[in-house]
Amino acid sequence: MPEGPEVEIVRLGLLSLKHQIIDDIKIANHPKYTSQRKRFEYLIGSEINDVARRGKFLIFNFKRGKETITALNHLGMTGVWHIYTDKKWGDIKSPFEKFKHYKLYFHFESGLHVLFINVRTFGKFEIMSMEEIEDQPSIKKLGPDILSVPFESKSFLIQMKRRKLEVGKALLNYSVIAGCGNIYKSEALFNSHINPFTRIPKLTDNEINRLGIELNKVAIEALNSGGSTLKDYTQVDGYAGLMQNKFNVYGLAGEPCSRCGTIIEKRDQGGRTSFWCPNCQVIKM
Ligand SMILES: [Zn+2]
Repeated sequence: MPEGPEVEIVRLGLLSLKHQIIDDIKIANHPKYTSQRKRFEYLIGSEINDVARRGKFLIFNFKRGKETITALNHLGMTGVWHIYTDKKWGDIKSPFEKFKHYKLYFHFESGLHVLFINVRTFGKFEIMSMEEIEDQPSIKKLGPDILSVPFESKSFLIQMKRRKLEVGKALLNYSVIAGCGNIYKSEALFNSHINPFTRIPKLTDNEINRLGIELNKVAIEALNSGGSTLKDYTQVDGYAGLMQNKFNVYGLAGEPCSRCGTIIEKRDQGGRTSFWCPNCQVIKM
């Protein structure tokens, strides 16, 4: 599942569509999308004005004359955006068959072809007003962003100290930190020498502050490495990220720790798998 850095990379790729005018749209035969058919068709003739990010959400801003139209997009588990030049698109044999899991297709006056592909349909692209977007609980309650510069340490400390649960669970809550998922959670806990099963009240303010800085650092490193490609995620030009080659614990259970040689462990934590080094990350009881 794409985390904040991957979504940010997708956003930067989509910004290349700024000021381009949509002249055709195709919608997949899925109720999530066909139910908005009229709203989508209304986008024909509009231009992309901006694409913003909030946590793992993208907010599209279209301009149609003097009118502004906004849409909320979430990639879900497997969502990707692809951009093709007319020539590259022409080289693909029956593209709509090849990308049969596409949900939206935009054609631009400039000749570009853009697809939102979502194999499992957990993602979404919904046309709604900015007020409606701001009113979504998953937007309204977003905590400090994992990529914020400088990192919003104060707000992170306040959010963490409100909770008594295990730190590995808290970091997956978007009100505690926005844009964090299972990968960067595991890596930042390793870098901070904190065991994912330690409960927040056992951590000192200094440890929480250090953890916030490490989350921010690992996310920025991921952004600069093109993100982590495990399954479906790619950049808009189809290239894979490289961050997966830099993991210290995530997906490495049974391997020796890069720091001390102890075997990395994994265990289920609230339905997600946590990875840690039992020597570098001793649990605080
Ligand atoms: Zn270790």
